[in-house]
Formats: sequence, structure tokens, C-alpha cells
Amino acid sequence: MAASRIWTEIDFAAEGKQVGYLHLPYSVTRSAYGTLAMPVAVVKNGAGPTVFMMSGNHGDEYEGQVTLTKLIRRLDPDDIAGRVIFLPMANFPAAQAGLRVSPLDDGNLNRSFPGDPDAGPTAQIAHYIDTVLLTLADVWLDLHSGGASLDYVPFASIHVSGDADLDARALAALKAFGSPISMIWSFFDDPRLATGSAHKHKLIYLGSELGGTGSVNPAGVKICDEGVIRALTHFGVLTNTEKFAVPAAPQIRLTELAGRDYYVYAPDAGLFEPYCVLGEEVKNGQIAGALHFNDDPARAPVEVPFRHDGMLICKRHFGRCERGDCLAHLATDYRG
Ligand code: CA
Repeated sequence: MAASRIWTEIDFAAEGKQVGYLHLPYSVTRSAYGTLAMPVAVVKNGAGPTVFMMSGNHGDEYEGQVTLTKLIRRLDPDDIAGRVIFLPMANFPAAQAGLRVSPLDDGNLNRSFPGDPDAGPTAQIAHYIDTVLLTLADVWLDLHSGGASLDYVPFASIHVSGDADLDARALAALKAFGSPISMIWSFFDDPRLATGSAHKHKLIYLGSELGGTGSVNPAGVKICDEGVIRALTHFGVLTNTEKFAVPAAPQIRLTELAGRDYYVYAPDAGLFEPYCVLGEEVKNGQIAGALHFNDDPARAPVEVPFRHDGMLICKRHFGRCERGDCLAHLATDYRG
């Protein structure tokens, strides 16, 4: 496979602080030799681990983008030992447009790994991350939220890799991040996720879902602001803990997403009336809500049940749904 065509003035090996751009060649009528200028920053001070922090994998997920934008301004080389690389608008065209997927190629960055240097912008970004940034990194923070269509009880998360040593180190990092509710994704089945590249590179991979609805959840931002500092300290990269004073990590409630049955999907198109609120503890068989057919008002509504006990940790934000849309999912206490 060809090397990436993305270029940058940034020297990731240089000491000090650099804030600049990755340039993805994008030749169009209004700009024949143009590039997509994607913000990037690196702060480096001597030897130590490299933490790669990314947000805007989905462009309409904002809490992580707020946290990283603030931290880029605040973090100085003498605050750290090692290196921090920031990519705050990872799928840049999507983040600029406030959309989950890229308006240039409909690309979902988190379904595009390990990427392709010869395909559209989204696949090129995935390929650059996989072949350049991840080879520099020891740890990857990929900060997500629910985006426009979903709302989440804010949490940080890890994914089971199957490598016991890596999973133990990831769990220690998750506890250090200290999101009061934390999640282990023990069910996922798509190697095109960032997770797939993270585990291929044997990186500790910390994720999150910090809110949603295409808005900025202040509670999610606070969890992220403090968690990122605690994680950088945990990895031995942040040394100036006086400047970045944060409360100690609380005891976390460790939950998991254990299988497909913990999701609720719309059996038909209609208007979904939820019967439960985010964070509520629900029972197997309890009705999640009713699907109403406003285009056929003589038709009885369809009630949609949960299929497990658990906490309603994610719900659909929009009222209107199509058959096959995800309406909700549950989290349950981690069984270990
Ligand atoms: Ca996401």
C-alpha cells in the first residue's frame, strides 16, 4: 500500500510545543492545489511515553473537542515528560460541518480503519492515523459522545482486546481516568473501528461517550477535563500536577455492554415515545416506550420492551425513527 499523502510542517520528534496542521491534498474547482488543513498539536519534553489524544472522530460529538481545544492552549513542554499529540478534529470535514460523517465522502472515520491512502478523505485520515500517529503512540485516547442522534450518561470506556496484559493496563488507565460511571465494551464486532487499529498496535485505548444530542454536556466536559489530566498523570507524562490540580479519581461504577440483546431497535417507522429516562434502572420485559404511527392514527401503537435488566445509559434523541434505528441500550454492572 502507498504511503500517506498527508503532509505537515509539524515535526513530531522535535522538543517543545508546536500547533499547526496536517495537510490532506484536496484538489477542487475553487482550489486546484488545495489541502484540507486539519489542526494538530504536539508537546514534547525529553524521554517518556507518547499519549495520542483525539476527538472529532465523529464530527458532531463535542465534549472531547472542547477539552482538547482548551488543553492545547494550556499545556506547556515543562509540564510533561514525554510527548502528547493532539488531533482535536480528527475527521476534520465532519467536525467542521458538525456532522457525524464527512460531507465530502459520507465517510464514517470510526468505520474506516485501517484506512486507505488512495481512497477518499476519510479513509486517508484513518490510514494516516494508523500508519503514522499510532506508530508514535503508547496510549490512544479517542474521545466520543453520542452525536446528534443519541444521548448518553457520560462515561469513559475501554474495549476488551483479548490480550490479558493489555486489558489489565487499560483497566488501570480507566480507573485512573476516574469517570464516575465507566464502561467495558465486551461486545463489538467490527474491525473497522478505531479499536481494531489500537489493538493491532498493542496500544492502551481509552474511549468515552460524554453526552450527545449534538450539544455540549457540561457534566461530560468536566469528566473529560479532569479525566484527561488524571490519565496523563497516570501514564507519567504529566508532571506539573500543581498547575493541573484535579480531585483524586473517585471510586468508579464499572459497567459493561455485554451483547446485542442489550440494545433496543425500532421494529417499525414512527414516533417513539420513551417511557424511561436516561440513567434509570430498568427490568427485563419492561416497556422502553411506544412507537406511534401518526401517519396511520387508527393503528394501535407498538410497545417495545427491554430484553435485560440494566441501566438506561443511551437513548435515541430524535422523536422520529425508521425501522432498524437504535432506540436505546443498557449497561450492566461488570461481572469481571
Ligand atoms: Ca461516536
